[in-house]
Amino acid sequence: MNVKIDPFKCVGCGLCAETLPELFFMGPFHAQVRRGTLTHHEEPLVAQIAEDCPSEAFLFEEDAVPSLTRGTVRNSYDESDHNEKEG
Ligand code: SF4
Repeated sequence: MNVKIDPFKCVGCGLCAETLPELFFMGPFHAQVRRGTLTHHEEPLVAQIAEDCPSEAFLFEEDAVPSLTRGTVRNSYDESDHNEKEG
């Protein structure tokens, strides 16, 4: 899972950076993410901080999964090729 902080929502209280300085730090105006990809161990901790964040500035997204290309499977079978011509 990846985490981001919305700079337009963050009010700069410092809670996330104080609690998990290995992941967040305070920039001049708002918190910033040091490392956005969370380990499974970190996910519940960050979820708790996100809940405690006074401005709901946390954004989560699942790890990118390679998308399957949806192609059109064309059936090359042409019935006319297999019609036996009689006569
Ligand atoms: S806890 Fe929320 S409001 Fe406080 S610094 Fe972190 S992101 Fe900003």
